[in-house]
Amino acid sequence: MSVDCGRSTIVLDSAAMFAGVELSYGAFYTTEGVLGEVLDSDSRMRLELARASGKVVVISPPGEHLAVVRSRARDLGVLGELSNTDIEILALANYVKKACGSSTLYTDDRLVQDVALSLGIRVRGVKYAEKSVSSKYSYRCRGCGFRSSSPGACPRCGSTLELEASR
Ligand SMILES: [Zn+2]
Repeated sequence: MSVDCGRSTIVLDSAAMFAGVELSYGAFYTTEGVLGEVLDSDSRMRLELARASGKVVVISPPGEHLAVVRSRARDLGVLGELSNTDIEILALANYVKKACGSSTLYTDDRLVQDVALSLGIRVRGVKYAEKSVSSKYSYRCRGCGFRSSSPGACPRCGSTLELEASR
């Protein structure tokens, strides 16, 4: 399957499919990993039918786009918080944007939204309003305020570091 810009520039994550956002579009793109997250039988049956009719276009994003997403996520301080599925759907949205000039990603995951916005991908929330500006993050100790770019225990006081927006 390949990108057909005239048909669709919409990319959906699993939250969007649970909510039935795909019913509003003639066609959309997603990854195998996202489809795998849709486990409830109603959504799954609906998606199997949509896939059989060519409405769901499943694409495995090229490696160069995975690399772009990982690098940007690292810059924003969220790489350690994203799953492979998150990285793949972002890479797919970036691939569609490169091919078509724009793409729109439906997701409620705030960190995925941050990376997408930072890459110039349009973002739409599913159940919640989307963010409009991306944030940068770091890990901060609730106990003493120590900041770090990686998770774990605070080297100063031993408390657990927590992800926090730093701007
Ligand atoms: Zn501390």
